[in-house]
Amino acid sequence: MPPLKNDCFALPPGVHWTPVDDALADLRSRLSCVVGTETLPVAGALDRILAADITAPRAHPPLPNTAVDGYGFLNGRGEGDHHIPLVAQHMPAGATPDTSVPAGTAIRILTGAALPPGVDTVILQEDVELRDGAIHFSGPIKQGANTRKAGEDVNVGDVIAKAGRKLTAADLALLSAVGVQNVETRRPLRVGILSTGDELVQPGEDAGPGQIYDSNRPMLRGLITRLGHVPIDLGPVPDDRDALRARLDEAATKADVIFTSGGASAGDADHVSALLNEAGAMALWRIAIKPGRPLALGIWQGKPVFGLPGNPVAAMVCTLVFGAPALATLAGAAWAEPEGFMVPAAFSKAKKAGRREFLRARIRGGRVEVFASEGSGRISGLSWAEGLVELPDEAMSVAQGDMVRFIPWGGFGA
Ligand code: AMP
Ligand code: MG
Repeated sequence: MPPLKNDCFALPPGVHWTPVDDALADLRSRLSCVVGTETLPVAGALDRILAADITAPRAHPPLPNTAVDGYGFLNGRGEGDHHIPLVAQHMPAGATPDTSVPAGTAIRILTGAALPPGVDTVILQEDVELRDGAIHFSGPIKQGANTRKAGEDVNVGDVIAKAGRKLTAADLALLSAVGVQNVETRRPLRVGILSTGDELVQPGEDAGPGQIYDSNRPMLRGLITRLGHVPIDLGPVPDDRDALRARLDEAATKADVIFTSGGASAGDADHVSALLNEAGAMALWRIAIKPGRPLALGIWQGKPVFGLPGNPVAAMVCTLVFGAPALATLAGAAWAEPEGFMVPAAFSKAKKAGRREFLRARIRGGRVEVFASEGSGRISGLSWAEGLVELPDEAMSVAQGDMVRFIPWGGFGA
């Protein structure tokens, strides 16, 4: 994988406020997978991202078989009473279908057993009477009843999972069913996380009057974990350029991508953007989004850096909206649009044109409610919420009962 270039995040000159969709399209086109591969047994590959397409080495089912416990014979039967003598053999699941069943006879057969030659139809055991070594039943029964065709689920050579897919428990069942033993997966993406700010104190430390506890780092660790990546905690860094430089150096050796919070604007204490600028690998993306502040995107020793705003609400929204799909791409997964759905609003609001707005929201009684305050400092609203309402770039006035788009945390993959 070629390293990302220093100018990878550069924007054309004159761009002022980038619409969210343009910013996403830019990220999508500029980023690519940065992790290598590792082969794992299927059973150990839950939540891993496939590095290559998987084709089925075997059909499912491999042979025609029976879907029920019953009696098998050739051809259907019409209306009226039928009597078919039974052969002595049985066909339990797993038996090799090597003895053929003579025409005009039937065989006892159990769910999952392959149909022996001479059988293409199975009648349910509940539908027959067993007497004098024969089955007695009334028709009609269609040819092929209660059977499954070879390969009706999966054929040999079918692509059953594509590169970039994150394996689910159900995928593990499918891969196992067709005899896949090992899969080539992406090595988990290591995401370095550090928070910046002289005002930050850590759990257990005494907080001076002007100080605040670091809430972004635990949140980012949680989000990164939920998104399926490996958080590498690089701790808090004071607003000191040398200290930050050293920590970024460390981050670049330990992580595949670096998420910083705070210090990403253009102020005196904004050392993240200053250092990335110094390295000649920085673009300040002013994105038309609320909540949000400029997103500092850069490259530090070949590793992409996401300079998130310090404000926890903006940091979380930016991580979900931009970080989640960017990380998925870096991790080798398919680019993922957030999955939202339309729900009637339990609120009213008017918004201006020109930027996309995300409101902390949750669904109660089939309607979506939003947090009482849009204040970007309200961390309690993040905790109250179970997702975000996304209002479009255009002006919009929402009345109670209007349909709005709600994206639950899970819709972002988090
Ligand atoms: P900054 O982006 O560094 O200017 O920070 C913007 C706001 O977010 C300031 O009020 C900071 O105190 C606050 N902030 C920065 N980092 C954190 C953090 N890790 N946890 C909580 N608040 C933070
Ligand atoms: Mg700061």
